[in-house]
Amino acid sequence: MFALLGCPARLAEDARACDDGMLRSLGIVGAQRGGRERRTPVELRELLAERMSRLGTESAFEVLARARALEAQGRSIIHLEIGEPDFDTPPHIVEAAVEALRAGDTHYTPAAGLPELRAAIAEEVSKTRGIPVDPEQVVVTPGGKPIMFFTILALAESGAEVIYPDPGFPIYESVIRFAGATPVPLPLREEFGFAFDPAELRRLVTKRTRLVIVNSPHNPTGAVVGREALEELARLAQEFDFMVLSDEIYRRIVYEGEVLSIASLPGMAERTVILDGFSKTYAMTGWRLGYGVAPRWLAEHLVRLAVNCHSCVPGFTQRAGLAALRGPQEPVERMVAEFRRRRDAVVEGLNSLPGVRCTLPAGAFYVFPNITGTGRSAETLARELLEQAGVAALAGTAFGRFGEGYLRLSFANSMENLLEAIERMRRYLLQSYGK
Ligand code: PLP
Repeated sequence: MFALLGCPARLAEDARACDDGMLRSLGIVGAQRGGRERRTPVELRELLAERMSRLGTESAFEVLARARALEAQGRSIIHLEIGEPDFDTPPHIVEAAVEALRAGDTHYTPAAGLPELRAAIAEEVSKTRGIPVDPEQVVVTPGGKPIMFFTILALAESGAEVIYPDPGFPIYESVIRFAGATPVPLPLREEFGFAFDPAELRRLVTKRTRLVIVNSPHNPTGAVVGREALEELARLAQEFDFMVLSDEIYRRIVYEGEVLSIASLPGMAERTVILDGFSKTYAMTGWRLGYGVAPRWLAEHLVRLAVNCHSCVPGFTQRAGLAALRGPQEPVERMVAEFRRRRDAVVEGLNSLPGVRCTLPAGAFYVFPNITGTGRSAETLARELLEQAGVAALAGTAFGRFGEGYLRLSFANSMENLLEAIERMRRYLLQSYGK
C-alpha cells in the first residue's frame, strides 16, 4: 500500500519507517501504521492520479452498450454507431495467420515490428505517398490508435499547443489533455465541405504550436482534405516549426479522386508522422494491427513508448498484415465499391427526410447529416432515435462542440438495414415533427 501511495520507502520495513506526518501530507485519512485501520472505498478512489481526470473516451462504445441493453429487452436496433467494416477479413489473410500459429509463431517479436513487415510497409508507403521511406522509420503497433497516443505523448507537454480537427476523432483531444498540452480545436465547417479553412488554421497557429493533427479521409464527416488546404498547412509547419500527425487510416476508402498525404508535399516527410493500418482497409479491426511512419529521430521514441506499453505485436498478426499488403487487393476494391453503393443510397434517403440535409462524403464510411431543421439538438435526436425509433447513431457533439447540429451514421451495415433505418427515421420524424 505504501509503495502505491508514492511513499519513497520501498520495502515493508522501510514503509513502516514512514512517519505519520508523511501519511497526512499524502492526504491519507484514517490510515495507521500496520494497516489496522483501512481506507473506505470512497477514500481509495482519492488515490487516482490527477491526470486521469484529463482523459476522455469514445462515446461510440457507450452508445453501443445502451443499444445492446435495449436489445436485451427485446427491442430491434439497427447499429449505425460503430465504425468498422461489416466485411470479413479476406480468407488469404486469415490463412497466413493460421499458418504462422501452426508454425509456432507465438513468441515475442521485435518491439518495432517484424523486419519483413516493416520493409513491406516502407515499400507501400513510399510507393503510395511518393517519398523515400526507410524500414527504420516504421513502427508496427496493435492498431493505429497507439500511434496517436505515442506521437502526442512524445511531442505534447505543458505549455505546448496542439491543433486538432473539431469535429474529429475524440481520442485526439483526450490524449492532448492527458499529455498536459493545450488542445486547440480547428473547426471543420459544412460550407468548406468539412475540410478546414486554411485562413482559420493560420489564425490558430502560434509559436507554441507543437503539433497539428490532420485526418483525411475524415471521421466523422467523410471529408477528404484538398491540396490547397494541405499546402497552407505545409507552409505553416515550416514557418512555425511544428510537426504534423497525419491520420490516414481511411486512405484506401475513397470514392472521389485521390487522397493526398501531407507527407508528399515538399519538405513535409521530415515533419510528418503518418498513421495508417489494416483495421479499415482489410476489415481487420479485431486483429489490432496498425503502424506509424515517422522521421527516424522520433520513431526511436515511439518504439520506446511501445516497449513501455505493449512490448510488441503478435508475430502471427504481423504475418497476416504481410499477406494483406503482398496479396490480392480485389477484396478491398469490392468492399469500397459496395460502400459507394450504400453511401449513395443513404445520402439520397437522408436528403428525403424532413429537417435533414446531407452532403456526399468523399471517403470513409460515415455520413454526417445536418439535422438542425428537426429543431432538436444532436444529443436529443440521437437519444430519441435510439430509444423511440431503434436506430443507433452518434450525436455530432461526440466529436467536439463543432459537431452540434449533426449526427454521424456509419454505413458499414447491409443495404437492407440501412434502408430500414432511413424508414424508421422517416416515421419517427414525421410523427414527432413540430412537437
Ligand atoms: N483514426 C481514426 C480517425 C479512426 O476513426 C480510428 C478508428 O476508429 C482509428 C484511427 C484507430 O484505428 P485502429 O482500430 O486501427 O486502432
